[in-house]
Amino acid sequence: MQIRQPVTDIRVDDPLAVLRADQTGVQNISIEEKEGCKTCEWKYWCAGGCPLETYRVTGRYDVKSPNCNIYKALFPEALRLEGLRLLKYADDPEVAMKI
Ligand code: SF4
Repeated sequence: MQIRQPVTDIRVDDPLAVLRADQTGVQNISIEEKEGCKTCEWKYWCAGGCPLETYRVTGRYDVKSPNCNIYKALFPEALRLEGLRLLKYADDPEVAMKI
């Protein structure tokens, strides 16, 4: 999404260090620091959503995603469906080994 605004390139000595020190590009902060996410039961699934999208909508990186309600509706259903899929094959060891 920010490919036209590079933070660094491979010609510098340590591009990873430049990325880590950057304060101008996308700031992908920890989920534990995002307002509204710290106590969310889905925080390790979601991680607060796309940081750039959140910034473009809210002007902040340290808040929950504008799509939060969508995630909270989808994650329980995805988990339920995966559970049903696993149960479907639980009695067939050959199939269970492949999933
Ligand atoms: S579902 Fe919402 S509150 Fe939970 S981690 Fe994702 S954005 Fe944050």
